[in-house]
Amino acid sequence: MKVRNPRNGTYDYTLAIDSPNQVSHKALALKSTQQAWNSKGIAHRVKVLMELATMLEIKSEEIINQLSIDTGRRKISRIEFDGAIGLIKGRCYSSPKLMEEVPIRDSFSNPTVQIKQQRVPYELVGVISPWNFPLLLALIDTVPALLAGCSVLLKPSEVTPRFIDPLEAVVKEIPELASVLQFVRGGAESGAALVDNVDVVCFTGSVATGKIIAMNAAKNFIPAFLELGGKDPAIVLADANLEITTDAIIRSAAGATGQACQSLERIYVDEKIHDSLISLLVEKINKVTFNADYEKGGTMGPLIFDKQADKIEEQINDAIDKGAQVKTGGKIENIDGGAWMLPTVVTQVNHEMSLMTEETFGPVIPVMAYKDLDQAIALANDSDYGLSGSVFSSDLEEAVRVASLIDAGGISVNDGSLTNQVFDATKNSFKLSGLNGSRMGNDGFTRFFRTKALLIQTAHPKSIHSQEE
Ligand code: NAD
Repeated sequence: MKVRNPRNGTYDYTLAIDSPNQVSHKALALKSTQQAWNSKGIAHRVKVLMELATMLEIKSEEIINQLSIDTGRRKISRIEFDGAIGLIKGRCYSSPKLMEEVPIRDSFSNPTVQIKQQRVPYELVGVISPWNFPLLLALIDTVPALLAGCSVLLKPSEVTPRFIDPLEAVVKEIPELASVLQFVRGGAESGAALVDNVDVVCFTGSVATGKIIAMNAAKNFIPAFLELGGKDPAIVLADANLEITTDAIIRSAAGATGQACQSLERIYVDEKIHDSLISLLVEKINKVTFNADYEKGGTMGPLIFDKQADKIEEQINDAIDKGAQVKTGGKIENIDGGAWMLPTVVTQVNHEMSLMTEETFGPVIPVMAYKDLDQAIALANDSDYGLSGSVFSSDLEEAVRVASLIDAGGISVNDGSLTNQVFDATKNSFKLSGLNGSRMGNDGFTRFFRTKALLIQTAHPKSIHSQEE
C-alpha cells in the first residue's frame, strides 16, 4: 500500500499490509500469552508499562520524526508524543487503586451466602485507530487494556502508518510486552480480520466505519467500544467575553487544521453580539499564515488526508450555493503538492447546509445568529452527533445550566475542546458519536473486565425433598 506525504502530496512510503491469515496468527499467539500476563498482577504490569514510557522517551526523536511526516505537523507531533507519555504514566498511577480487592460480604438477599467479586479481563482486545492523532489514539485504549491484563492487537490507520515501525521497535525491546502487544498494518480488510479474531474491539474513527464494525462485532458476538465523529456546537451568550471566546473558538475549530473529533464545527451566537464576534474572529484569523515553509514561520499545517479535503470543499460549495458568505479563507490551496486551508469563517448559514449537519473535519467556523436561548439550545441539539460542545458566558451559573441542556457527552465551559486535554473525566459519546462505556476516566480502565461473582454457601442447604413447595 502506498502512503501519501501530506506536505508534498507524493506517495513516498510503502506499507506492507497484514493478510487476514497473518492477523489470525498474531491473534492466536497473543491469546496464548494473556493468562501469564494477567497472573503477574497489576504492580508488575505497571512496571512494564512504565518501562515502555521510559524507552519511548529515549527513542522520542525517531517516533516524533515519523509522526511529523505522517501528519505534516512538527510542534503538534511533539505535543502528541508528550500526551501519549502522560497517558501511560497517568493510567499507571490510577489503575492499581481500581484493582483493589473488594472484601467478601454477606448477600442482602440470602444472608447465608457470601459474595466474592472478581474481575476477569478480556483475553484479547482489538484496537483500530484513525489518522488524525496517530500515536495518541493508537495508545489511548491499548494502555488501559494492557494494564487490565489483556493482550492487545493494534491496527493504526493506513493513512498515517510511518510511526508504527519505531513504536514497534521500542515494544520489541521489552520482550514481555512484545508477547502481549502486536501490530497489524493495513486498511479495511486487515481491520475486518482483526474484528473476527478478538474478544472485544475498541474503535476510533468515522460513523460509517463504526457502523460496519458494530455489525461485524455483533456477528462475532463481541462488544464494540465505539468513539466516532462529532459536529460540536458552541453557544455564545450575549455576556460572553469576546476576547476569550474568539481565541477559544479559533484554537478549537482550527487547531490541528480542524482535524480533531472534538473541534468546534458550529457556532451559535446571540444576535446582539453576532457582528462584533465575526469582526473579532476575522481580525484574528487575518494574522494566521501557513507554515508550508518552516523557515518562514507560520502556524497552520496541511490537511492530512486528500479525500477529506475533497469533502470540505464540497461542504463549502454547497453552503455558498445556498446563500452562505465566506469571510476568511474558504479555499483549499495547493502548495508544493500539499492541501492547505486557512481558518474559514462562514456566515449566513442554516441547517439545510451539509456544513451545519455533517462532520467537516477541517478548519471551518460556520457562525449562525440566534434570537433566544431556547432557539440556541434547539439548534445545538438538532444534530445526529453528540460528542462534545462549548458554552461561553460571563455568568457561570447560566453557562452551566445551558451546558447541562446540550445533548452531548463533554461540554467545555468558557473554552473549547477541553476533552482533548482532560483524560480523567468520565464521559460518554451520545447519539451517533459513540457507543458503550466511557474511554476516559476510571471507566476507560474498568471496561476491560467482566465481573464475576463467587457465591459461597455458609449454611447447610436443605435437600429439595425436605422443602415445602
Ligand atoms: P475511518 O473510519 O475511515 O478509519 C478508522 C480506522 O478504521 C482505520 O484504521 C481504518 O483502516 C479502519 N477501517 C476502515 N474500514 C474498516 C472495516 N471495514 N473494518 C475494520 N476496520 C476498518 O476514520 P478516519 O478517517 O481514519 O478518522 C477520522 C474519523 O475519526 C472522524 O470521523 C473523527 O471524528 C473520528 N475520530 C473520533 C474520535 C473520538 O474519540 N470520538 C477521535 C479521533 C477521530
